Amino acid sequence: MTVYSGPVFDMAAKQFNVIADHLGIPGDERERLLMPKRAITVSCPIHRDDGTIAVFEGYRVQHLLTMGPTKGGTRFAPSVDIGEVAALAIWMSWKCALVGLPYGGAKGGVTVDLSKLSPRELESLSRRYMQEMIPFVGPHTDVMAPDMGTNEQVMAWFMDTYSMYQGQTVTEIVTGKPVFSGGTLGRREATGRGVAHLARRVMDVLSIDPGKATAVIQGFGNVGSYAALGLHQMGLKVIAVSDHTGALHDPRGLDIPALMTHATKHGSIAGFSTELQFDPKQILTFACDVLVPAAIERVIDGPTAEKLKCRVLAEAANGPTTPEADLVLERRRDEIFLIPDILCNSGGVVVSYFEWVQDLQQLFWEEEEVMRREYQILDRAFHTMLARVKADNISHRTAAMAVGVEKVRAAKNTRGLFP
Ligand code: NAD
Repeated sequence: MTVYSGPVFDMAAKQFNVIADHLGIPGDERERLLMPKRAITVSCPIHRDDGTIAVFEGYRVQHLLTMGPTKGGTRFAPSVDIGEVAALAIWMSWKCALVGLPYGGAKGGVTVDLSKLSPRELESLSRRYMQEMIPFVGPHTDVMAPDMGTNEQVMAWFMDTYSMYQGQTVTEIVTGKPVFSGGTLGRREATGRGVAHLARRVMDVLSIDPGKATAVIQGFGNVGSYAALGLHQMGLKVIAVSDHTGALHDPRGLDIPALMTHATKHGSIAGFSTELQFDPKQILTFACDVLVPAAIERVIDGPTAEKLKCRVLAEAANGPTTPEADLVLERRRDEIFLIPDILCNSGGVVVSYFEWVQDLQQLFWEEEEVMRREYQILDRAFHTMLARVKADNISHRTAAMAVGVEKVRAAKNTRGLFP
């Protein structure tokens, strides 16, 4: 019996078993590696604007305590449940190990439809969630960050709430904060920039000229918009973009800076253009060079994977590809170059790590320094993955995850089993 269930958790478990089979990990060790160390469920009551009380369920899963503090985002979305949060925490562990950060994975979230909250109610919920988590988090135990539905403002409320209870400002309790509240330059852009950087590396490997290439982006929030901007700045035409409100297509290439300004002002791409609209269901199967799913999990299933018409699949979202789709992509390995999620979107946690280090030292870096170090870590992880693909003749996802799982396993085995 386990409290973890649901399609996203099943997917993380299935993926892990593929890696465990590949690495020959014995059955009795598998559960120790896969199952989260801690899961916290809290109820968060808030006053609604109409005077009534509403209660929201919140979670935090800390998967791995072996490597140092745990680290992971906080998601505010209707889909959030303990299984989804656990899966995201597990992926964070493999990701941090792959890129070499001194963290275990964590994740948190609240089950909430943000379209039904006023700004004041969102602030109350954010503060109450953090207040409920105070006994379980800390700069050296578990450090939160943004994810879907949360942003710099929410991180500032988290940091303020934690600090008020400590009686002093503790900026290092969360990352992804505004720069003037202890955040780092380059964090807002970090995940999307990292996606574009890695896509560029792959274009070099495949001899694709960015000036003649096209990109398609699903999701135009923090990650999708900055990935689109990065690719646009490299010379690619971003020919289609979608979000939860709809999709836009322009074969001449969308004006990404203008679309970002619009989305920041209005909260979505809706209303940017009536002529450019098309069916969002088609976004993933558009013919393009670089396809970037940057929204939610499990959007590419087996049949969709068969229909993909991209040359590079840059998984900016966590878990966008189901295990059935993985089998298809494995077969289509020579046609589609996959940048697996735990590598592709790791620029976010890498720069979160830089933010934490800067906060602990109270010594802040220039943006160029942040970017240089981010790209250095991403390049190293990219080459490690490629070397493993070649050495073991395995898929990109298996290689990236194998490197992460192996490091975690080695750390657990050298520390031993207490008592
Ligand atoms: P966000 O809330 O800023 O943006 C999410 C975007 O996805 C929005 O544009 C939303 O409209 C869109 N969306 C939601 N449902 C959709 C659907 N069914 N079809 C099309 N679009 C849809 O979130 P974000 O921070 O950009 O995160 C996006 C993904 O990237 C998530 O999977 C998250 O876990 C992952 N990620 C985020 C970070 C980070 O630093 N923010 C880091 C690593 C991974």
